[in-house]
This record gives sequence, structure tokens and C-alpha cells, in this order.
Amino acid sequence: MTKKIILLGATGSIGLQTADIVREHPEAFQLTGFSAGRNIGKTVELINEFQPEIVCVQQEPDALALSRQFPRLTVLHGEKGLIEIATYEADVLLNSVIGSVGLQPTLEAIKLGRTIAIANKETLVTAGHLVMEHARTYGAVILPVDSEHSALYQALNGEKREQASKLILTASGGSFRDRTRKELEGVTVQEALAHPNWSMGAKITIDSATMVNKGLEVIEAHVLFDFDYDDIEVLLHRESIIHSMVEFQDTSVMAQLGTPDMRVPIQYALTYPDRFPRAEAKRLNLAEIGKLHFQPMDFVRFRALQLAFDAGRAAGTMTTVLNAANEQAVAMFLDGQISFLQIEELIERAMHEHALIHQPDLETILHTDAETRKSVKDMLK
Ligand code: NAD
Ligand code: MG
Repeated sequence: MTKKIILLGATGSIGLQTADIVREHPEAFQLTGFSAGRNIGKTVELINEFQPEIVCVQQEPDALALSRQFPRLTVLHGEKGLIEIATYEADVLLNSVIGSVGLQPTLEAIKLGRTIAIANKETLVTAGHLVMEHARTYGAVILPVDSEHSALYQALNGEKREQASKLILTASGGSFRDRTRKELEGVTVQEALAHPNWSMGAKITIDSATMVNKGLEVIEAHVLFDFDYDDIEVLLHRESIIHSMVEFQDTSVMAQLGTPDMRVPIQYALTYPDRFPRAEAKRLNLAEIGKLHFQPMDFVRFRALQLAFDAGRAAGTMTTVLNAANEQAVAMFLDGQISFLQIEELIERAMHEHALIHQPDLETILHTDAETRKSVKDMLK
């Protein structure tokens, strides 16, 4: 039976790799609908190739033009459209939009009991407790797409949660892992966008360079697997071959390995609990690699990781603030308005100035998100 997929963020890095998987297994998957942002050229290509029933783009004029070009296609737009397409009849929703804009579509799909494959980590950071509570209430299955969390999910498969003692997330270190803090002053956008191991969207590549990405992933792991922050460790592993590990109470450690290729965790989330072949993919050859390297994390050098642990431990609206401040600061860095090191300075200031609210509801989270973005913008004045 073919699985009907709704894909949010189809024109992005994860979105296009998801399209690769659908293309490789036409008998198993059907791209029933997808959303895109402003890349209309790519959107048209995807419509022609996959013949979806429904599409959503960010802006209304683009939606009107697409409706004229494809009269039989349902075309939506904006944030309302994103929520509507997320709830369109399908077997799985793969959410690969970037940012907390993915939160409400995810919650609405969960309310329908849908299976959600989630790459959009900002949603889990900004309102993880709501996502998981809703998933329990409505019986929705949440499957991780992020490579580290897919690895943890696989390592925990068939195990008893209470017998697992620790999560070990690996971190490549991003584009600046070998630079001192002094050497980070004045780095350019171009330099920050060159990641050594993974080819990804702009925002997550900057997040990897600041180590905010690993911070978001620590919170994502806490949310998905319910481990205390004291039992989540981050290990610098520059080759990105071990994607993460779980330690058990008998001291056994389960790791998931592979060449760095996001299509593996994407496909696993779509085929779970099955595994499909990936004929074209590069196989792991440890003899060729020879050595793997590991180093403890330096929380002074990677200040942003410390901030993420602090936000996670504070909980409540603090992770919303961490995420929104980072989204705003990264946008300003990419736009040439602030320096690289100012990203974490602005996050720290936003967290410092925030009056924490415990157990926030959706309205409080949306309000905190908007207020934080505004206050980070104002900090420049
Ligand atoms: P990307 O920037 O390449 O793509 C984002 C997609 O979302 C695009 O289709 C874009 O058009 C759409 N989009 C952006 N803003 C939007 C908005 N306001 N409204 C509607 N649509 C919008 O991002 P990506 O690298 O594919 O990352 C997607 C998510 O997956 C992120 O949460 C990221 O952290 C996570 N992730 C990515 C990778 C990776 O390898 N790229 C790995 C692990 C996790
Ligand atoms: Mg990751």
C-alpha cells in the first residue's frame, strides 16, 4: 500500500531530500501535498514531477499565479494555509519547515492522530511539552528525522526506557570548531555557511557554527525521550559517523553509525518500523576511515550550548525565548546587521531579561515568541 505524504518545507534541504526518497520508492510513497516558501521555480518543478493534490506557498500572489497555471490543483497560502495543508488527509506529515512557524500545523495534525515525522526541531524546542502532551492525548506517533534523534530512537528500539541511563549526542563542531573565541571575531557569513560534513539550509548551518544547533538538539532529545538534562551528554565527534548513542544501566552503549546522509534518517522515519534498501547510497567503510575522534565539549568555547542547557533546565517559556531570540539573531547575522558572536550575546540578553512563565499554553508561547523577536530587534537600537 502506498503511503500518502504531506511534506512541509518541500523546497528546503530536508524537503528536497525527502523528494529523493519518494522518487526512489514510487511504489511505496506518494507525495499527496506539499508546502514551499518563496522558491516558485522549484515549486513548479515539484508539482510537475509529483502531481500533488494540494500545495501551499508563503505569499498570496504566488498562490494566485499557481492556481492559474494548474487549474486542478488546490493552492493555499500563508500561515493559515500551512495549518490547513498539515491537516489534509494523509498517512504521514513530514514537517521540514524551518522555525517555530511549524508549531501550529504540527499541533493541528496531532489532534487528528496523524503520524508526524519531525525535522522541524524549533517546534519541539519552543513548545515541546504541548507537542508531547497532545501526542499522548490524541494517540499521534512522533518520529524523529534529525540524525541524532533518529540514532537515539534506533538505539532505544525494543529496550526498556527505565533501563537506559544516558543519552550521548555527538556533535561535529560546525564550521568553526577549530577556532578560538578570539578567532571568531569578524568571521563572515560566507565562512559560517561552509559546514565541513553536512550540506544543509542556511539557518541550521549557522546554528551548527554557533553550537546553538546542538543546544536545540539537547532540548529536542529531552522532549522526545524524557531524559533529565543531567543525563544528556554532548560529545565532539568530528567525523559525524556515530550519529548518537544510548548508555544503559549495565554500562552497555548502543550506537547508530553511517556515512553522513540525511536521506537515511528521513527514509527511516517514513518506513518505520521497516527498513528499505538505498541502492545508490554510499556504504560505511570503517577500514577506509581508520580512526574516529572524540573530545569532551568545551562549554566556555561553545557558550551557546551552555545557554541551551540553562534554558532547558529553566523550562517553561525559557526554551521559547532561546529559540525565538536565536531565529531573530541568525536572520540579522545573515542580513549583515550583527557580527557572529553577537548571536549568542543577544540570546543571552533575551534570556536574562525574560520573566519565566511555567507550563505555558499555546497563546503564551506564541506571545513570548513574538515579544522575544521584537525585543531582540530593539536591542540593536
Ligand atoms: P531550509 O531553509 O533548507 O528549508 C526550509 C523550508 O521551509 C523551505 O521549503 C522554505 O521555503 C520553507 N519555509 C521557510 N520559512 C517559511 C515560512 N515562514 N513559512 C512557510 N514555509 C517556510 O531548511 P532545512 O535545512 O531543510 O531545515 C528544515 C528543518 O529541519 C529545520 O528545523 C532544521 O533544523 C531541521 N534539520 C535540518 C537538517 C538538514 O540537513 N538540513 C538536519 C537535521 C534537522
Ligand atoms: Mg542534527
